[in-house]
Amino acid sequence: MFAEKIALNARKAISSFCYEECKAYCCRKGYLVLNGWEADLITDKMVDKHIQDGSIRKFGEDRYSFFLGLTDQPCPQLKDFKCRIHKNPKRPKACREFPVFVDEANKTVRLSHRCLAVKQGKFYAFESQWAKKGYNVIESSPLLDSEFYDKNVK
Ligand code: SF4
Ligand code: SF4
Repeated sequence: MFAEKIALNARKAISSFCYEECKAYCCRKGYLVLNGWEADLITDKMVDKHIQDGSIRKFGEDRYSFFLGLTDQPCPQLKDFKCRIHKNPKRPKACREFPVFVDEANKTVRLSHRCLAVKQGKFYAFESQWAKKGYNVIESSPLLDSEFYDKNVK
């Protein structure tokens, strides 16, 4: 719980950096792993259209990959570099948690290598708070990042 509280503060601390400097890179490029409900929410129930244009692929029971930027389109919920559903507590879990993923069972905090704030060391102060609580803080490798999302889809 401590670690998630610190993570919440860490995510909040970069919010203006996200839209002013990074320009919401993670909502424009890369991909999200979503369940069906989340896919419906962020596509405004247009999942089939996205499957047809190749930006969404279904892989397994109630699992979807949404490739952002594949058709030169960012996430449909992005407007002026801000998320239109940011205040919706039911927005995708991956979106709520990115770029900080707390794994309580293994006392590990993972930071996504894809995040500009991570690359620029903007979580440094928070890293020491997690370390003081006994958490191992690691930055993802490009190959592991998908596992973060997979774990986060319920
Ligand atoms: S990539 Fe990182 S810094 Fe950029 S918008 Fe996403 S969370 Fe913010
Ligand atoms: S739902 Fe919001 S946070 Fe998630 S990718 Fe879309 S714009 Fe970004």
